[in-house]
Amino acid sequence: MRILLVEDEKDLASILKKGFEERGYAVDVAHDGEEGLYMAENFPLDAVVLDIMLPVIDGLEVLGRLRKKGNTVPVILLTARDAILDKIKGLDIGADDYLTKPFVFDELLARVRSLLRRKAEVKQAVVKIGDLEINTASHEVKRAGKPVPLSAREYALLEFMAYRKDTVLSRTDIVEHIYSEEADMDSNIVDVYINYLRNKIDRGFKKKLIHTVRGAGYMLKEE
Ligand code: CA
Repeated sequence: MRILLVEDEKDLASILKKGFEERGYAVDVAHDGEEGLYMAENFPLDAVVLDIMLPVIDGLEVLGRLRKKGNTVPVILLTARDAILDKIKGLDIGADDYLTKPFVFDELLARVRSLLRRKAEVKQAVVKIGDLEINTASHEVKRAGKPVPLSAREYALLEFMAYRKDTVLSRTDIVEHIYSEEADMDSNIVDVYINYLRNKIDRGFKKKLIHTVRGAGYMLKEE
């Protein structure tokens, strides 16, 4: 899942980026509102973490312009402790959630997970595809009740596919949601990771869950 972080405090931005990346998210960072707006409009994002107090254009303005153009990417606003009016205004112009600074990273992470589930219309933390269970809160994966250990990147790929199960995903779709802009990855990397996942999830099982759709891409589906 790919997240845009718009935060002008560079130390905070780099700590958050590192935290998200350690959990397998791809993270793009903007340090002012104008850059943030550009990235939000042009990158295929799954969520935006948007600070309100930003140089050039503030976060509320960024959000307002995005929503005015019909962009529905889930947005969490970061607000200052006493800024009640900002919170109200933010929610009214289309923020999905907000978090008051200073916050604990785990809470931001939980709120992002919750937004991603909501966007995918997944109601519970555990997504099931056949006998495959993906716990999107703890990142634990089981097949037929047995734990399947995955790297952060493998997990990210699986979760992305699980949130869009029964849908054909092109290599470009996948690579754009698993890697940030700076990573500049070749979409062939997707085939490599799909193979890793197949070895861990489908190997030894009669029912395959990861399907190749010739000329189109891949799909996670109970067949
Ligand atoms: Ca700020």
